[in-house]
Amino acid sequence: MQYSDDLSSMSTLAHELGHSMHSWNTWKRQSPIYDEYSIFVAEVASNFNQAMLRARLFDTEKEPQFQIAVIEEAMDNLHRYFIIMPTLARFELEMDRRREGSTWAQFDHLYMNFYIYQYATGISAAHALALPILEGDAAAARRYIEFLSSGSSDYPVETLKKAGVEMRGREAMEKCYGILDDLVDRLERLTRRLAGRRLAASRRALKRALRRGRRPTPSLSARCRRPSPVRSPPRGSPAPARGPGPA
Ligand SMILES: [Zn+2]
Repeated sequence: MQYSDDLSSMSTLAHELGHSMHSWNTWKRQSPIYDEYSIFVAEVASNFNQAMLRARLFDTEKEPQFQIAVIEEAMDNLHRYFIIMPTLARFELEMDRRREGSTWAQFDHLYMNFYIYQYATGISAAHALALPILEGDAAAARRYIEFLSSGSSDYPVETLKKAGVEMRGREAMEKCYGILDDLVDRLERLTRRLAGRRLAASRRALKRALRRGRRPTPSLSARCRRPSPVRSPPRGSPAPARGPGPA
């Protein structure tokens, strides 16, 4: 990988270290027969590391601008791997059904038979496994190390079940949507805080200008007015007309 000393590179490094930890633990524990884990679990350890990194950054870096950058990185990642990948997997399935192949595609994971939907299952399993560990559940952490050490010694869904996540139902997917939901809430809180800070700074500037007997500029006066809340139209009212506005 390339490293450019930014948040995205740090997250990618955590992702790749997750793969390394998975391989290292498996190779340490399993005989050569079982030392290759299946692709169904391959993206779990990597996304688990990214979930832990973001939780750590939210805990230790309190500056709103930085936290917003972490949310942006998380949403970008979830959008790509939790939303886009299953869409590509459906495309791959459809192409396979039509026997047209996908040799023109540029995304090389499409050449690895049905690899990509496992990004979405992997990312949801990773978050479901990270949640109890982040809450301090030591047994869940032990089960996770056990999962990293199990290679292909059991069926992938069974390996994940022993680690604490059942992939045959909706639970893990719904937990991942819950993570996205939390990120949106956190982003709203942070932007409100930043807007509050800007408003307070503008009011201080206005007071200083008034103390010095200067007329505040129109733009400063406008900044000091709290924006009126946006109200949604009452239920049952007609939707606003679309298209070009009045001439
Ligand atoms: Zn990966």
